[in-house]
Amino acid sequence: MTDAHAPTLAATPPPPALDLIFASTTVLGEGMPIRRALPTRLRRMVGPWCFLDHFGPVDVASGKGMRVGPHPHIGLQTVTWLYEGELLHRDSLGSLQLIRPGQLNLMTSGQGISHSEESPQPRSPRMHGLQFWIALPDAVSAQAPAFEHHPELPVVMHEGLRCTVLVGEALGARSPAKMHSPVVGLDVEMSAATTASLPLDAGFEHAALVSEGEVLVEGQPLQPGALLYLGGGRESLALSTSGRARLALIGGQAFAEPILMWWNFVARSKAALGAACREWNAAEAKFGEVLGYDGGRLEAPMPPWNV
Ligand code: MN
Repeated sequence: MTDAHAPTLAATPPPPALDLIFASTTVLGEGMPIRRALPTRLRRMVGPWCFLDHFGPVDVASGKGMRVGPHPHIGLQTVTWLYEGELLHRDSLGSLQLIRPGQLNLMTSGQGISHSEESPQPRSPRMHGLQFWIALPDAVSAQAPAFEHHPELPVVMHEGLRCTVLVGEALGARSPAKMHSPVVGLDVEMSAATTASLPLDAGFEHAALVSEGEVLVEGQPLQPGALLYLGGGRESLALSTSGRARLALIGGQAFAEPILMWWNFVARSKAALGAACREWNAAEAKFGEVLGYDGGRLEAPMPPWNV
């Protein structure tokens, strides 16, 4: 192996599956209801993907919109993808970045970073989007934090599907987003009734989430509010719609390193998660400082094993 940072990966992908997993509803930041599709009791990860929030579509013309005050991350990358509206990202590296539909924000926590997210002023009347976390392999989780904004991503038309490659590679196109393990993320847009076969990497496991309309995925009706876990070993995916619809497809090599999650942290031990909570609440320098957010920083809830 020539890449010193390559993670230890499962040799064989899991078998094909068609498991419908309902998202839970929760509240993000200062009162925005969202659907959380990962992690759930039935499924913790899909490849390295370990968190998936679907927010909106929601009217943000009045009220505060989305407001998530300064908070830290370790052990992961955050991926933000909007269908409608705008979000303003600030982080402890000094980034101040507005994101719009069709663009990608990618924040790599490395050893520690903090950020805030808010609906800007002025703004579009509706917001709709996804935020994912991707677990970092242990070998790279201690590296320096980084932030990337990609204003344009590769778009490939395939059998009536408009596919945007968010991360990884698909349909001969590669996203510029810097990844650290074998992974893919696609936005698949169908503007009218469509029947298509989307090629997949059989060495990956995959899951699909519909954000708009209804899609028959391998014959299984899928609507907003659920994640369809597809397993591995699939060369292609049968997609069919009777009208306009939109779907996110995530996948990757099954993540062979067991991870632990608490609050906004991904680590390998309970001790590391507890330490991250203490360090953030003590405002230690490793997480830096977010400047300019009009509100307070979030406090880490101490884990029950470390009170
Ligand atoms: Mn965050």
